[in-house]
Amino acid sequence: MLIINCPYCGPREQCEFTNGGEAHVARPSDPEKVSDKEWSEYVFFRSNPKGIYFERWVHSHGCKKWFNAVRDTSTDKVLKVYEIKDEKPSLADLENSNLTTPSGEPEVGSGNFTVRKI
Ligand SMILES: [Zn+2]
Repeated sequence: MLIINCPYCGPREQCEFTNGGEAHVARPSDPEKVSDKEWSEYVFFRSNPKGIYFERWVHSHGCKKWFNAVRDTSTDKVLKVYEIKDEKPSLADLENSNLTTPSGEPEVGSGNFTVRKI
């Protein structure tokens, strides 16, 4: 069972959350001027990597608030959660941070995980 640490409520089981897809997808600044191809890429195309993925989640059976998470799709580990207003963490930030369990305790052996660049 995947445990997600809601930034507002604390650790909860994944079944309380709904995935909102990739985070940090920039809407075209002037939608009237983009081509149909560019618009369809904005609406439908996502990176879908094997590895580090920045995604949106909503605590749909809890506080109903949206937040962002960084998840390794190959291990299904949530590496970091952060509020929507916070900046996207860099890969260097993720490499230099120690993973913690949802209760905030350091996870055994988590200090040396490797972030694969995609
Ligand atoms: Zn919550």
